[in-house]
Amino acid sequence: MTRWAGPWPTDGIAYGADYNPEQWPEEVWADDVALMRQAGVNLVSLGIFSWGQLEPAEGRFELGWLDRILDLLHEAGIGVDLATPSAAPPVWLHLAHPEMLPVDADGLRYTHGSRESWCVSSPVIREHATRIARVLAERYGHHPAVRMWHVSNELACHNGRCYCDVSAAAFREWLTRRYADVDALNLAWGTAFWGQRYASFEQILPPRRTTTIANPGQRLDFDRFSSDAFVDHLEAEAAVLREVTPHLPVTTNYMVMGDFHQIDYTATTPLVDLVSNDHYLWAEDPRGWAELAFSADRVRGLAGGDPWVLMEHSTSAVNWQPRNLAKEPGQMLRNSLQHVARGADGVLFFQWRQSRAGAEKYHSGMVPHAGADSDRFRAVVDLGATLGRLAEVRGSVVEKARVALLWDTQAWWATDLDAHPTVDLHYLDLARRLHGALLDAGVAVDVLPATSDLDGYRVVLVPTLYLAPPDLSDRLSAVVARGGHVLVSYFSGIVDEFDRVLLGGYPGAFRELLGVRVEEFAPLRENGSARLSDGTTGEVWTERLTADGAEVLATYTDGPAAGGPALTRRSAAGGGAAWYVSTRLDRPALAALVGRVVDAASVAPVVEQPGGLEVVRRTGAAGSWLFAINHTDADLPLQATGLDLVAGRMHHRGDLVPARGVVVLREGV
Ligand SMILES: [Zn+2]
Repeated sequence: MTRWAGPWPTDGIAYGADYNPEQWPEEVWADDVALMRQAGVNLVSLGIFSWGQLEPAEGRFELGWLDRILDLLHEAGIGVDLATPSAAPPVWLHLAHPEMLPVDADGLRYTHGSRESWCVSSPVIREHATRIARVLAERYGHHPAVRMWHVSNELACHNGRCYCDVSAAAFREWLTRRYADVDALNLAWGTAFWGQRYASFEQILPPRRTTTIANPGQRLDFDRFSSDAFVDHLEAEAAVLREVTPHLPVTTNYMVMGDFHQIDYTATTPLVDLVSNDHYLWAEDPRGWAELAFSADRVRGLAGGDPWVLMEHSTSAVNWQPRNLAKEPGQMLRNSLQHVARGADGVLFFQWRQSRAGAEKYHSGMVPHAGADSDRFRAVVDLGATLGRLAEVRGSVVEKARVALLWDTQAWWATDLDAHPTVDLHYLDLARRLHGALLDAGVAVDVLPATSDLDGYRVVLVPTLYLAPPDLSDRLSAVVARGGHVLVSYFSGIVDEFDRVLLGGYPGAFRELLGVRVEEFAPLRENGSARLSDGTTGEVWTERLTADGAEVLATYTDGPAAGGPALTRRSAAGGGAAWYVSTRLDRPALAALVGRVVDAASVAPVVEQPGGLEVVRRTGAAGSWLFAINHTDADLPLQATGLDLVAGRMHHRGDLVPARGVVVLREGV
């Protein structure tokens, strides 16, 4: 991503929602706009699912309604993030081209009548999506309400993998470009096993349903191919918008949340001017706020530290989880300001007015079914006022952390492959737990793509990075050589980019860095545990390893690796060290280990004695702002002084942050 040099789409922090006026009679629109003004809304995303209304038959456009709502919004001073509508092609296009519907791994072709019902490799969707993008760009690119472009919606959310014949041909072309020679592919995929050798690229299919385990190299490359196809789609739509309206920034809403990992977003960031993200809490998770913090930090890492936009979250319940809990009073404010604390300069929701009908009618909105005379809408108005008071924060950045935590979508895909040593090891599990331990300790962390520059970091955490970038070992060695600390976990650096094991003892990529050699994985029984000599407990996974240049800090006292090292540290001359943990430590033990590594690197919390508060600092040319969010039921002291912009009063060192409350201090006043 190149930092957007033009103006931010709004004065102050962007506040608003997806706005779907086509769901309502036009009489409602004036009321919508009046309520938006009351709530302080300054940006709405328009037209995301409107293709069917904009082009009811091929080449016949009905744009009058969009003209009218754009004018109405502009008169009210509300900016528009105008969408290209490719997330929901019209029925006529599906009927004319049923071959564009995606096909699953079992060969079942989906039916239209939902959304994202298209194969990303289909030339039909590409042609029609870029065609209507051009129509919209030419007609509205200079409308004064339009501030930015929103390409499609949540790319790959429902159609991330397509196994149709069109996709098969595109996959073969992609493989031909990648390998040139089919024997190079045979070597990469290990097709000598089970006699899977291909004589030509023409023989290759997507990894459709097989009798048993499919070839892992084929599956991993299919993930890469599919992700690349969405990157190409984004690039094609964005290219039209840039050609016609170079003055407008382009974004697409990512889905950095939970377990979604259909696209390697690092390949998309060069194609957008502003990074934006959708985030929905897993409502039943009591530490959902910690997952929110982790996801927001991942988004900031993708944005290269620049401000980004929270394009969607929910005012209260969603409608697609098993039990859709309503947000408690104050939770919407806390969630929103968590995102702002972690770099968002926009807070938007799905959606403005809760739908009366259709698939998401029980998904909350800024204006609920109950109407404006409701606690929800009053909270929406309060949030708008609070964000208005935080306008000065916009453009500042989250203070650079001294701790980096690495993640990688390709490693995630590879970790997900079948027939691994245990079903109990999940890719983001340890990354989230490490992030949570730092969060609880009040220590700031940057969550970065594994290919990122590590300069300036005193601690680098490498959790379950099963497939590591080939140069990572050298970059980690450089961190240790300059006195930094690196913590690598079990099941990291195991395979090359083709999912072939790096031989000679695990972890092949990091053996030398860590001074350990693992001869055998020793996963545990379901709910099993192993005791360590330092009194801690490991879960899920252990290893039979030997220290080869590393100091043994703890050994296994029972379990399948009894007697062998569990936790090691290889120290370097300049005070740096490479730590290795070979088991999934329980929560207190992991917190203690993180504390030990952070202390060894002399990294301090954001504020002294954070005491259970989530604390983040943003800094800019005009000063710094300290966000403190209390997720507990007790009032907690904050050891910092400043003007609290939320309550509008001075906060003195040691004053309390109310239970379930938030303060944002303008420091240095
Ligand atoms: Zn397809």
